[in-house]
Amino acid sequence: MTGTLPPARSLPAWSQLRTAIVTGGGSGIGLAIARRLALEGAAVAVLDRDETAAKAAADSVVEAGGRAIGLTADVTDRDAVDDAVEQVRQRLGRPSILVTSAGLDGFDRFLDITPAGWDRILAVNLTGTFHCCQAVVPDMIEQSWGRIVTISSSSAQTGNPLMTHYSAAKAGVVGFTKALALELGPRGITVNTIPPGFVDTPMLRRSESRGFLGTGVGQHEATTPVRRVGQPEDIAAACAFLVREDAGYITGQVIAMNGGRTT
Ligand code: NAP
Repeated sequence: MTGTLPPARSLPAWSQLRTAIVTGGGSGIGLAIARRLALEGAAVAVLDRDETAAKAAADSVVEAGGRAIGLTADVTDRDAVDDAVEQVRQRLGRPSILVTSAGLDGFDRFLDITPAGWDRILAVNLTGTFHCCQAVVPDMIEQSWGRIVTISSSSAQTGNPLMTHYSAAKAGVVGFTKALALELGPRGITVNTIPPGFVDTPMLRRSESRGFLGTGVGQHEATTPVRRVGQPEDIAAACAFLVREDAGYITGQVIAMNGGRTT
């Protein structure tokens, strides 16, 4: 979904009242999600460790007629996350939608992974998800309504060569999502995960340029059932659905988006 915002009266009433936080919103999938949620009428806080990217993303939403702010925080730093969430409360109101797209991949032979490298991949992908959820869930409980979408990975479903650390972290996100959904269901909060596979973002293109995609994206497109690489907007569309008011009966689910590569 692209273009400028429709007139406010044509937006669904619920989304005009919602404040969303999108981590990793400065690039790729998170950026597309931030734009899509703003297009649906939510006020969006774009949180990223890259200050320039977070601000540029928020500016692009505002230029399109939406409401957004850019915030800088490393999701592994709990104090920084708490500070960012407090800024969201003060500038946009209590958050009730959280999408955790901040992520870090890694390609290392198992025997070459250092303990520090292992810790960093888990810290960004898994512990970062924990920090962000724990910082925001009290606001959702207060409102008796919340929508959390974690971004995991098809690597959690299939494994990936040279990615034991990343696959383990993302599988952790899947388990975390299911357990949190059970705990928060009675509070009006849904928690689902989208494990993307093969989506055209700076992360994927970095992997390609470093030679980790074989002969490249084209080779993978040929073996993907829908015969194309995924676009960040594909993930954003699913995310926009999961955070809707009428998606309240969907929780604890793994909504795979990979062009049929994994079923
Ligand atoms: P991307 O373009 O690299 O975007 C990720 C964003 O997260 C970047 O702006 C990045 O900043 C930021 N980030 C990284 N570490 C952070 C941290 N510690 N704190 C705050 N922000 C941080 O990657 P993407 O492809 O959109 O990935 C989005 C999510 O989808 C990730 O969780 C990724 O693991 C997952 N995923 C992607 C694919 C795919 O095919 N693209 C497949 C499976 C899963 P920097 O640029 O400064 O690092």
